[in-house]
Amino acid sequence: MMLIEVVTLFPEMVDVVLKTSILERAEKFSKVEYRVHNLRKWAKGKHLTVDDVPFGGGAGMVLKPEPLCNAVDELKQQAFKSGYEPYVIFPSPDGVLFSQERAIQLAKRKYLLFICGRYKGVDERFRQTRVDEEISIGDYVLSGGELPALTIIDAIVRLQEGVLTDFESATVDSFYQTPLLDCAWYTRPWEFEGLTPPEVLKSGNHKQIDEWRQKSREEKTKARRPDLWEKWLELQNKKEED
Ligand code: SAH
Repeated sequence: MMLIEVVTLFPEMVDVVLKTSILERAEKFSKVEYRVHNLRKWAKGKHLTVDDVPFGGGAGMVLKPEPLCNAVDELKQQAFKSGYEPYVIFPSPDGVLFSQERAIQLAKRKYLLFICGRYKGVDERFRQTRVDEEISIGDYVLSGGELPALTIIDAIVRLQEGVLTDFESATVDSFYQTPLLDCAWYTRPWEFEGLTPPEVLKSGNHKQIDEWRQKSREEKTKARRPDLWEKWLELQNKKEED
């Protein structure tokens, strides 16, 4: 079973997502255990301060290094004792861009610890000394690391075997095995507002249906993501050479 811990100033925000749908089911089926901690637990002083003004001035607050480092040290030590190999992830807009490929790699680990930044971010020394990997979920800035951490957790947990009712359905998603986007999907009713799916989907001919789906994936990728299309062509060429 995988253990995923999250340190945040807003545990209730993280809990509500982890207690919903597939993420909750994964815990119920003992595929994963979540532990969500309030960063304030490691704050000191009467006011349990976790942030302070930036050296050099400027607007906004910075998360202090001590509570963050103490949290990581304590949780890592516990993890070690339980036989885990701890791995600390800090979501940050200047991290390496997240991808399905990275999700597949991280899904193989047994223990992940996510530290959620807030405000202007965290003291650089925490990043230097305690973080194994910094991940960005895209070129935009959110108010905190909670949604990025949950995004990464969702992508990882749904890859654990036995989490999705039909594991197949993950393996045909966009990006799973190929750089192609997913095909178009239809369900009942057959006719909706005058629109109908391609006839082939009614044919029962699975070879033809697979061919149509592949074509749909290729056309969509070519039209929407020329970068992925190039990658796909390169892969095809390489396969031919092999
Ligand atoms: N000043 C920082 C942004 C701070 S946003 C900068 O410009 O890079 C506050 C926190 O939200 C960050 O520390 C990080 O944990 C999280 N965050 C915001 N946007 C993110 C993104 N695109 N990917 C990952 N984490 C993000």
